[in-house]
Parts: sequence; C-alpha cells; structure tokens
Amino acid sequence: MEKTSRLPSWFKMQRAAGENYIAVKKTVESYGLNTICVSGRCPNIGECWNAGSATFMILGDICTRACRFCATKTGRPSAPDADEPLHLAEAVDELNLKHCVITSVDRDDLYDRGAGHWAETVKQVKKINGNVTIECLIPDFDGKTSLIRKIIEAKPEIISHNIETVRRLTPQIRTKADYDRSLGVLNLISQAGITAKSGFMLGLGETGEEILQTINDIFNSGCTILTIGQYLQPSFAHMEAVKYYTPDEFDEYRNIALNTGFRFVESSPHARSSYHAVRHV
Ligand code: SF4
Repeated sequence: MEKTSRLPSWFKMQRAAGENYIAVKKTVESYGLNTICVSGRCPNIGECWNAGSATFMILGDICTRACRFCATKTGRPSAPDADEPLHLAEAVDELNLKHCVITSVDRDDLYDRGAGHWAETVKQVKKINGNVTIECLIPDFDGKTSLIRKIIEAKPEIISHNIETVRRLTPQIRTKADYDRSLGVLNLISQAGITAKSGFMLGLGETGEEILQTINDIFNSGCTILTIGQYLQPSFAHMEAVKYYTPDEFDEYRNIALNTGFRFVESSPHARSSYHAVRHV
C-alpha cells in the first residue's frame, strides 16, 4: 500500500468558534478537567463541542503508555486529583448532558491502575445527575479482573474498550496492550450484562481479511456496538497513515458489521469511539 500524508477531500473539519464550543471550553477549564478531545487532538472537536458534548479524561493528562497512534502525552503522571470525580459530576450538570462519556489515561503506576477513582467518578456523576446515562471508555487495567469489576459494579450504562487495530499490528501500534487481553476485557463486560462497545482504526496497514476477522472477534466477545474510524497521524513523531479509506469503504464495513449482528455501528472516516456517542445508548 502506498504511504500518504495529505488529507483526502472528504475530511472536512468544522470550525471551533461556536457559542456552545465556548461554553464547553469554559466549563471544562473552570473545573480543571481534561478531555480526550483536546489531549487526543481530535479532528471532530469543532463538531462535538459545538453540539455541546465532550469526552472527559480522568486521572490526569499524562499516560504511562506510549502507543504509536495516540497524541496523549506520555511520562510520569502526578497523583490523581481526589476532587476530580465531584468536579466532573458538577461539569456534567452545568453542561446539562444527557449522555456522559468518560475515558482515562493508563495509570500503570497506581496499585489499582486507577479503578477506584473510576468507580468514584461514576458514582458522583450518578449522584448529581439523576437521569444522565454514562459511558466508560476504559483501559485494559492489565487484564486484572478484580479491577475491571470495580467499573462494572459502578453500573455505567455502557462500558467500552477499544481493540484499536487488528491482531497482527497490535504489538507495533499499542505498547503493553494485547489483542486477546482486550477481547477478554470485552467478554468480562458483556458477561456481566453491561452493554459492551469497542472500536478500531483503519489505515494502519491492515488487510481486508484482517478487518473482517477483527469485526468477528469483537462481535464474539459480546459487543453490540462498534465504531470504525480512519487513523490520522497526530504528529510527525507518530505512526504514518498507510491508507485513507473512502466513505464508501466505511459504508461497506458498516454493512458487514451490521450483518454480523452488531446492534449499532458507527463507521466513517470521522468516527471515533465517542463520536455521536449519545446515539449508541
Ligand atoms: S469524537 Fe470524541 S474525542 Fe473527538 S471531539 Fe468528539 S467527543 Fe471529543
């Protein structure tokens, strides 16, 4: 496949300056919160924030892993902010969100990998926002069942964990993570009766056959919601995109996934795990 770095014409970025965008930015900043929208340099930030939604990122903005696709800073993080769960819950209230998506950096430095902080955050959001639905996009917690169960027991409506890429490319793209461990995380969530969701990126050098296998593997883990999006190189230090798939190709994979049995599939060049997340509930 030919390597390419210029964005194709179907990538249209919405400008950031709307009224809602400014309100979201103000709320996020005033509560001292982080978002993956900013940390991950997400191309959809104009659209999402103008629609009044954002994806909160807890446990700081420094990740202990250094995946080759991800723009989030890597290094040695500071101790978690004990006030963050409450502040996040207050921000959800202020933004009047109907659906709240939360993710985190990996915290391999903490004895519980941040699972307790996760559970407390879900608890506070529920306490202050009676009707909000919650989606937790979690790391793999090193596959430690007891830690993943802490999030399950907090009872968010959806728990997602991204497989990110096909099996063969996983060791090159995701540091420390393991394809089968991620499938195990998804299996644990679905077995517990919570809606399980996953997603992966196209454009990292995967083959058509590998894409189909990944769709099947995720489905067999018990997931009912799937996102498929285009990988974009966040900086020259990150892995280069090998291919830009066309909107028609994304449509084709959406149909394949729906025929496989998924209840909801978000598949487009712009799709990210949290893109249009309110529709997945
Ligand atoms: S797709 Fe997700 S990460 Fe990107 S701007 Fe929207 S809510 Fe934020």
